Amino acid sequence: MTKYIFVTGGVTSSLGKGIISASLAKLLQERSYKVTIQKLDPYINVDPGTLNPYEHGECYVTDDGAETDLDLGHYERFLNTATSQDNNITTGRIYQTVINKEREGVYLGKTVQVIPHITDEIKRRVMLLADKGDFDIVITEIGGTVGDIESLPYLEALRQMRRELGIENCLNVHLTLIPYLSAAKELKTKPTQHSVKELLQAGIQPDILVCRTEKPLTTELKQKLALFCNVDQKSVIEAIDASTIYDVPLLMLKEKLDLRVLKKLKLKTSQKPELTAWKEFLGRLKNPSHDIKIGLIGKYNELPDAYKSIYESFVHSGAANECHVNVVPIHSERLESDELGPYLDSLDGILVAPGFGERGIEGKIRAIQYVRENKIPFFGICLGMQCAVVEYARNVVGLKGAASTEVNDKTSHPVIDLMEDQKSIKTMGGTMRLGSYKCRIEKSSMAHKAYGRQEIQERHRHRFEFNNKYLKKFTDAGMITSGINPDTGLVEIVELKDHPFFVGVQFHPELKSTVERPHPLFVAFVKAMLKNKFNEKA
Ligand code: GLN
Repeated sequence: MTKYIFVTGGVTSSLGKGIISASLAKLLQERSYKVTIQKLDPYINVDPGTLNPYEHGECYVTDDGAETDLDLGHYERFLNTATSQDNNITTGRIYQTVINKEREGVYLGKTVQVIPHITDEIKRRVMLLADKGDFDIVITEIGGTVGDIESLPYLEALRQMRRELGIENCLNVHLTLIPYLSAAKELKTKPTQHSVKELLQAGIQPDILVCRTEKPLTTELKQKLALFCNVDQKSVIEAIDASTIYDVPLLMLKEKLDLRVLKKLKLKTSQKPELTAWKEFLGRLKNPSHDIKIGLIGKYNELPDAYKSIYESFVHSGAANECHVNVVPIHSERLESDELGPYLDSLDGILVAPGFGERGIEGKIRAIQYVRENKIPFFGICLGMQCAVVEYARNVVGLKGAASTEVNDKTSHPVIDLMEDQKSIKTMGGTMRLGSYKCRIEKSSMAHKAYGRQEIQERHRHRFEFNNKYLKKFTDAGMITSGINPDTGLVEIVELKDHPFFVGVQFHPELKSTVERPHPLFVAFVKAMLKNKFNEKA
């Protein structure tokens, strides 16, 4: 029978429920349990696909084409297993399902209400994930903070599940903050007491408290928390600030979070987590022998969460190369008219980020021309690849005024154009080319060297494409289309010869990079930057 763990958050948002959930899952996975993590988001959007990155950070895309919360990225990076549509549920989706059923007459004339109809749908979605994946343990993270009006139905669903299944089958781990008051030189437990009270009001007695803190918790303080919050002292877990999120599984292991959880769920604790590959990764991450600096050219640079998976991919691929990758955000709008040398000359490479709309696009194109001509390593992702195609069209192929029709639909040379099957689509949510698609790689290309094989699958999220009417013109002018979708003939990878690294990809490799499986293209890009830097100096 599947066991359920619900992770709730108290006191403030941004305590790192996603990282705690992923770390706990990692430890349980190392103990040979089949685990997955699910995120319940309390907002009314059906999915985060229509949200501006400023609102909600990056939109993470799964193999099955779901547009999801960026926490799913952490789950995959930690667990090294794929998530799906079922791993992210929003209030919008819950209500949409219930309202559709109401319209179909499923409720047979009954009044449709939050309890039981909405809460039943929440419970159904949690258990559906367990059944589909045949998991031993499902960890469900409830977004938001206890006390928010919008998360009440989720807490009520949790209360009901605990009642129906028994608390040894349905656990609540409550993540909370123990603030340090520097004037009093003291850690304070009161906000935690209040947030536990909120939970109790919803009918939930937390089983385990995970306490975010900047200072170690003393035994007295743990005793106090245990007494006031009605948990056993061993179940007060310290979660001290870490220098990297990748330390958290080891910190939780030291604090025996996994052990407490398993004991309470009455599951076997015999197999101790080894985390061998994880520790090797951390060793490389913390002891780099080189340092490189890369420019991330995008338009949401004030908010690193907008490019979360790209930053993390550089952590993984840097560690694989024993190299610290310093990522410097550069605003593409600044590159539209400023002189480029001062921005780009000191960099070991640039990555042109994914994005939508025309803001900053000319800056991206100018930067690409600069690094192409000055042989600075370049990696373009999605919009970044499309910009590389436009730049090459204008400056090498000789197609004056070439553009993507996303930016200029009257261009004389639409080298990037709307896909045929996108032309009739009018609605925005879930209508892009989404999810995993096959790509066939040309032998002896840079991409082939990186992947070491010809058949790959990568995740997509876009509406526009390389326009194959121009294919011959580009290849005649020296651009190599080294990755092609075998089913549709769409160009997925472009690259250039006689350059230290010049690769653009239509898909999103950053979504598949994990601690234990850093993405081959990121690894190759970092390697190329290191080689280039070393050769220049030699
Ligand atoms: N805006 C471009 C398109 O829709 C690129 C999308 C992206 O970078 N994810 O095709």
